[in-house]
Formats: sequence, C-alpha cells, structure tokens
Amino acid sequence: MTATTHAFQAEVTQLLKLMIHSLYSNKEIFLRELVSNASDACDKLRFEGLQNPDLLTEGSDFEINLSVDKEAGTITVTDNGIGMSHTEIAEFLGTIAGSGTREYLARLTGDQQKDAQLIGQFGVGFYSAFVVAKHVTVDSLRAGEDKAVRWSSDGSGQYAIEDSDYARRGTRITLTLRDDEQEFLEPSRLQFIVKRYSDHIGIPIRLQNEEGEFEVINDSTALWQRPKNEIEDQQYKDLYQSIAHAIDEPLAWVHNRVEGKYDYTSLYFIPTQRPYDLYEREQQHGVKLFIQRVFILEDKSQLLPRYLRFVRGLVDSNDLPLNVSRELLQSNRTVDAIRSGSTKKILGLLTSIARDEPEKYQKFWDLFGAVLKEGIVEDQGNQAALAGLLRFASTHNDSLDETTSLSDYVGRMKSAQKEIYYMIADSKTAASTSPHIEGLRKRGYEVLLLGDRIDEWLVTHLSSFEDHPLRSVAHGDLDLDDEAGDKESQQQLDEQYRDLLARIQSLLAERVEEVRLSSRLVDSPSCVVAQEGAPSGFLKSMLEQAGQAMPEVKPVLEINPSHPLIVRMNIEKDKELFRDYASLVFEQAILAEGGQLKDPAAFVQRMNQVILAVSS
Ligand code: ADP
Ligand code: MG
Repeated sequence: MTATTHAFQAEVTQLLKLMIHSLYSNKEIFLRELVSNASDACDKLRFEGLQNPDLLTEGSDFEINLSVDKEAGTITVTDNGIGMSHTEIAEFLGTIAGSGTREYLARLTGDQQKDAQLIGQFGVGFYSAFVVAKHVTVDSLRAGEDKAVRWSSDGSGQYAIEDSDYARRGTRITLTLRDDEQEFLEPSRLQFIVKRYSDHIGIPIRLQNEEGEFEVINDSTALWQRPKNEIEDQQYKDLYQSIAHAIDEPLAWVHNRVEGKYDYTSLYFIPTQRPYDLYEREQQHGVKLFIQRVFILEDKSQLLPRYLRFVRGLVDSNDLPLNVSRELLQSNRTVDAIRSGSTKKILGLLTSIARDEPEKYQKFWDLFGAVLKEGIVEDQGNQAALAGLLRFASTHNDSLDETTSLSDYVGRMKSAQKEIYYMIADSKTAASTSPHIEGLRKRGYEVLLLGDRIDEWLVTHLSSFEDHPLRSVAHGDLDLDDEAGDKESQQQLDEQYRDLLARIQSLLAERVEEVRLSSRLVDSPSCVVAQEGAPSGFLKSMLEQAGQAMPEVKPVLEINPSHPLIVRMNIEKDKELFRDYASLVFEQAILAEGGQLKDPAAFVQRMNQVILAVSS
C-alpha cells in the first residue's frame, strides 16, 4: 500500500496548536504520556490475553524500551503491548475521542492565552509528542495480526498511513526532535523524567545507555505501598500528576492502608484545577484500580460516589480477582466497602482542612463546593459530615462570597432564635435584594443567600442542622416579633388595615390565596410568599423549564403597612385606581422575585394609568 494522506479532525489541529503553547514550561510530560500509553497497551494485552491466549504467542513478558539516536536527533519509545491495526491507528491517532472533549473545544474563546491555560486540563495524551517533536512516526503491529502499519505526521494538520515492515508485536514511536529540544537526547534527562513520573509503572522501563545496553530504570514498586513517613511531598505531587494526567499541584491528599476484613490501600488527591468535564455525564478520568499492584482499570462510577467525581487517585486491592470486570464492580461487596471507607476518608480530609486551614478550604469550596452539595441529596448516610462542609453567602457580611458555614451561623443566632433562615432565588444577588429578607435584616437576623440550581434540592433534603430547622424566609408566616409591645401594635395595625386587606383580597381572589400584613417587609410595599410546604417560585420555574407541569398553587400576598404606597391605597376613593393599585402591588411582588407576569402588557398599561392619575 502506498501512503495515503489524511487530514486530522479539525479539533485535533486546534488542540495541537494550543498544546504547544500551554505546555512550553512542562514539555517533559510528553514522555510521561508516551510511557503511559505504552503501559496501557501492555495492560490491555494482558487483559485480552486472559480470554484469548493466542494473542500472547510472543510471550507475556512486557517491557517498554527507550532509546536515543543523537545523530538522527530521535527518541524511540517501544512497547510489546496490544498494538494498533490499520483502522485503529487512524481512529486513535487522528480524532479526539469523547464528545465532551469536542464540545469543550467548541467552547474555547479564541484568546490563546486563556485557552492555553484551559487546555492544560486535558489528559494531553499522545498529541503532546508534538510539543517537542517536529515529526512523529508510529509503527505498530496489532497482537494476533501479521501486517504492520505506519502512521506519520509533522503535526500541522495531516498524517500519512502506509504499510510498515515492523515485525515485532506492539508499537514503536519515533520522535524527531525540534532543533531547540535537543536536550531530550541526553539519556540522563530521560531517566530523570521517567523516575519522576513513571517510576510506579509496573512494567520494566528500560533505557539504552551509551554502550548500547538496555537498563531497567524504574522502580516499579508502587509508591503507595511504602510507609507514609518514607514518602516525600514531592513524590506524592509527582504521582498525582502522573496518574491524573494533570499539570496542577494537588491541594491535599489522603493516603490510607486498610487491613482486616478487607485489605486495600487508597490514595486520593484533591486537585487545584476544575476538570473541564466536571458536569459531563461521564468524566475522562476517575480513580485507578490496581489489584495486587497490577493496574486493572480506571473507574468513574463505582469506587467513589458521584459527588466526589473531582477526586483523583487510586485503590490497590488485595481481595478482588485479577480478572475483575466493570460489571463485577457494580455489585461487589468489596467494592462497596472500599467506596464507603474511601468516602469517609475523603470527607475526613476535607473536614480537617476546613478546621485547620480555612483559606485552603475556601479555595476547595470555590472549585468544588457546588459538586459537593450534591452529596447532601445523594448520600444520606454522610449528611451530617457533608452539612458541616457547606459554605454559604450570608447577610452577615453582606457578601456574595460563600464563606459562612452552618456552624458559624448557629454560633451567631439570636438567643431566642431556633431556625436557620435562608432565602433562595435564581441567583445569590436576587436573594440578597429580595424584599423577603428586609424585615429580618432590620431586626438583625442573619439570612443565608442561596442561588445555585442544586440549592433547591439541597434544602429539601437537608431539613436541619444540629437540631435547628432550616427555614425559607419566602415561605409561610414568619413570626418575627416576639416582644409584647410589638404584639399589641400588630393588633392595632390589623384593625386599621382589615378593610384594605379584604378589598385587595376580593380583587385578587383568582390570583392569591390570602392577603396579609407583613413583618418581613421594610422598604418594599409587597411580596409574595409561598404557602408552607409549597414549592418556591424558583423551584416552580425550574421544574416548568424541565417540562414538568406544576399544579397551580396560589401564593400569599404580604403588604407592608408602613410603605407610602400602601398608606395611600388605604385612603384611595377612586375604585378604578384602587383596582389598578391592587394588581400592581401583586405584580411588582412577582417581578421582584424574578418571576414572570402572565400579561406584561396589561401590567404596563396599569402602571401608566396610575402614573398619569397621580401626576394629573
Ligand atoms: P488516552 O491514552 O487517554 O486514550 P492518548 O492520546 O494518550 O489518549 O492515546 C490515544 C489512543 O491511542 C489510546 O487510547 C490508544 O488506543 C492509542 N494508543 C496510543 N499509544 C499507543 C500504544 N503505544 N499502543 C497501543 N495503542 C496506543
Ligand atoms: Mg494516553
């Protein structure tokens, strides 16, 4: 077959360009990625060989070999793993797998500086070879096949595929280095990089020395099997970058050995960068599962609960069978035990950071708080621990930064206060300016300000914290005045406004359940309040957007007797005008909540009428 030329998928070209920009200070990771692919290829063949021993006619001693040719300016990485067929090679090395990645790329801004930073979060993979190489050739022979294939490219948009006379099972990758990357031709440099990122790989990595002999350079004893006090921080950090294919530093880690009924080691890291696919249905990376030090698979759903999907790391089990499958993981008692033990460890780690290093915790919360909140809904068993980890914006410091914990709140509660007040709206800003919280603010009650989509679910699943019920200030009757004097003046007011309330009520009977005087309001004339137990306006509109029909539940309209508009209404003699006032008072309450009017044109007309009447 003569060579055929193919264009890279457009996204690949884009990714290549960005990668070269973003990795200039991190170039050496190309070797980590190639060695990792070589090791994956060996793992895959070992796995397939269990089912199909014919694939292993060349033996099952796996190895990865590195060599340099200073004259030719090339580095070669060879493995005797699974290899790639003609069709596979074009698919694997010409496209970007994973629709999430493609969508993400489509969202890039075009600002190279910014995008370059983002791109660092990708599992950079094979294409990182082009960060140092001006030309890459891949020869590969798929295990069990007899025709090898050659793939080659200069990374600028096209690649060629042709037959190859490569005769050994597996893959050989030859990089022709760019002129200014010749430093990587030093075997000692390669050895250093392998030690740093790939030491733990359980397959011998051999480097050809100046005399032409191959020497094993990796330890291949797993770092995580050593006692904690023998492991340096830098080693943990390097291992994190290596197993998570990351370029950021971990924020924290927890390394743990369990013995007894179950026997496993776990090592989990909290990243300092938000993975680009955090909200995709499935993530590119997860937790690596080893069984007796042999890498088995990367798991994204069984070893940790979904709300911890930002955690990276590994589990090394001594109990699971070596030929474990993904299906088996789904209903396995050992896996269940690992998951629940791991979850406790990670929540424990977060709890101690929150206690001892609040600034660090804040950083964590800003990155992953919104995901952690899902745990309140998903994981009843750990709800108490999770509740302690939550952070909210609060009227206490009048900031929308999420820095207030529930125990901070409880510590500041007024002496007779029993409930934890919160206001939820479709943004924290809307919550903070909502009429509903005016009265509480004035009386010195703290209100938590919620505005995330997940918050509605959070508050329906978290009913209390340390025996203090969570209470929506937009629901039901808020009886804020507990002093006797207030009670009396309340009665007087009720008298004074009884007629007004009844008149408004009869005009708005179709739209509101009840009209009453408010103790919540200070500056606004009115607000709408959901009945106790009814969904809030925010939840309602969320469910409606999701296509769920909601039964019509009429809200309660609360009016502020000390607002000039209400005072004025109380003495309005003109019936038409009063009717307009009543509607406007209700409609503006809806608008203030971020709600939508059924007939906005009628609202505008009424408003104009009132303005004209007042100014004439
Ligand atoms: P990832 O390793 O995350 O899948 P890469 O970009 O590193 O992404 O590699 C893309 C794909 O190319 C791999 O999934 C694998 O199928 C194939 N591949 C790369 N290197 C090798 C190799 N040495 N042997 C066999 N297949 C390989
Ligand atoms: Mg890879």
